[in-house]
Amino acid sequence: MPGSDSFDFIIVGAGSAGCVLADRLTESGRHRVLLLEAGPPNRHPWLHIPLGYGKLFTDRRFNWCYATEPQPGCHDRNVIAPRGKVLGGSSSINGLIYIRGQAEDFDHWRQLGNTGWSYSDVLPYFRKAEDNGRGADDFHGSGGPLAVSDLRDRHPLAQAFVEAAVQCGYPRNDDFNGAAQEGAGFYQTTMRDGVRASTAAGYLEAARRRANLAVVAQALATRIVFDGRRATGVEYVVGDEKRSARAAGEVIVASGAFNSPQLLQLSGLGPAALLQSRGIAVIADLPGVGDGLNDHFAGRIIFRCRTPITLNDAVRSWHGKLRHGAHYVLTRRGFLAIPAISAGCFLRAHPASATPDSQCSIALYSADTIGGDLHPFPGVTGVCVLLRPESRGHVRIKSADPRDPPAIHPKYLATPRDCETLVAGVAAMRRIFAAPAMARHIAEEIEPGAQCDDDAALLDFIRRRGSTVYHPVATCRMGQDPAAVVDARLRVRGFSSLRVVDASIMPAVVSGNTNAATIMIGEKGADMILADAKGGTSIGVRAA
Ligand SMILES: Cc1cc2nc3c(=O)[nH]c(=O)nc-3n(C[C@H](O)[C@H](O)[C@H](O)COP(=O)(O)OP(=O)(O)OC[C@H]3O[C@@H](n4cnc5c(N)ncnc54)[C@H](O)[C@@H]3O)c2cc1C
Repeated sequence: MPGSDSFDFIIVGAGSAGCVLADRLTESGRHRVLLLEAGPPNRHPWLHIPLGYGKLFTDRRFNWCYATEPQPGCHDRNVIAPRGKVLGGSSSINGLIYIRGQAEDFDHWRQLGNTGWSYSDVLPYFRKAEDNGRGADDFHGSGGPLAVSDLRDRHPLAQAFVEAAVQCGYPRNDDFNGAAQEGAGFYQTTMRDGVRASTAAGYLEAARRRANLAVVAQALATRIVFDGRRATGVEYVVGDEKRSARAAGEVIVASGAFNSPQLLQLSGLGPAALLQSRGIAVIADLPGVGDGLNDHFAGRIIFRCRTPITLNDAVRSWHGKLRHGAHYVLTRRGFLAIPAISAGCFLRAHPASATPDSQCSIALYSADTIGGDLHPFPGVTGVCVLLRPESRGHVRIKSADPRDPPAIHPKYLATPRDCETLVAGVAAMRRIFAAPAMARHIAEEIEPGAQCDDDAALLDFIRRRGSTVYHPVATCRMGQDPAAVVDARLRVRGFSSLRVVDASIMPAVVSGNTNAATIMIGEKGADMILADAKGGTSIGVRAA
């Protein structure tokens, strides 16, 4: 479609959900689709080597490198908030952990009135997406575009963590995405043969060969264009060149939990007072756009190990870097093929929790700052994530300039229950590190250290040093209430030709890692868009 500026569907954002949509909407060959992505193509080797995760935290070529506003719950720190800015979006820079969440998360979405989103409704979409190296069963799929695989190497420290959790009384769990999430085991990852499986690799690579898909990288969408209450196109810039494209059918916003509400607000959809204060003409007063931000916060504990078998040791010298690099090139194994965390334990830390409220994991490295230089001694990090935070914040544009980062305000640790649960979770994780199987590897706890020995001190430490694990959602929340932004078919309320399909539509964050659930949303969203096009419910799209 060279030169064409008219499409059936325009997708804004080629991330976890956007690439799924681009593939599924072009599969039949009947629909012309434009996919706009603000970032570049995903060619750089670190976007494919799993260890690249650590390299990409601060790389502005592929990462928006956002930070939150000062967080009152974190001693007024600006917490780093990376987001992918490249084909594949955050799935091209994330930690590669494949955890869907609990069945109860999706049943809760359904209980909120979102027909079609219970666990039994969404499980077929998780399975459809998946190509699990273990093969298909009641919970898993094979032959789908998204490679999911076991770790190729089980590091002795990760094995020790699992044994230690079992010594603490937690059950072994061989499949966190199967019948039950609770217990300890090794993570499955989004990798194929030791190489990152982003949605750009799994979905977009093949779809790009189709004549009915146009992909424009380094294209920043600046505004959705409306004719009354109908979205008719998108304005975007490539460098300094202004362009526009028309959508005969729908505009689909898939720009992620920070940028989707930003684009809607820039386009005149959002809280009227905010838009007016930024000089933007209001098309629809939708107070919920950008509101309800829900993110996973974590406490991190650092340990010095007795033997030099951690990543810190492997890559300290040039000789080590070369040796491990060569090992990876030859075998696609070893330290370069490790995800952000290797093994973990889902547990109930708060006495009132009916299902796991904490995800405790071991990372085979340690550093003073996230993405910073690794320690010059053997070190590992324990990461405890608060799985169902009550705290909710917001995302708001600071100005009418699309290049201006939005103000991100997650309000971490704003409720007593969040604080109690995370403190209890970190304490439980410390007990795992102190159990015999793990203790024999540990020389000392470096951070916070033994002097931090009561709940108040632990909470203070978490506020001072804790961080997000980069799972923001719910800023264009799906629901039936007046503050909800999209309905259960992901249509922006009051509009027939505009949807949001990405992590921002989750009513609440899932009790896991958000990439799998976002890909599921992409799969289900595509099905709904195609069904509506077929039924003639979406204006302008030729019936398939
Ligand atoms: C560092 C990091 C580690 C993570 N680790 C894990 C993990 O191990 N496991 C897991 O399950 N999840 C993990 N996540 C979270 C997971 O990757 C995200 O939840 C998921 O990728 C979100 O998908 P999305 O489609 O909503 O947004 P994204 O994948 O972020 O895609 C949005 C895309 O839209 C583009 N875009 C934004 N604005 C515009 C615009 N105006 N015009 C054009 N394009 C635009 C962006 O550049 C981006 O490519 C991690 C995330 C990060 C950042």
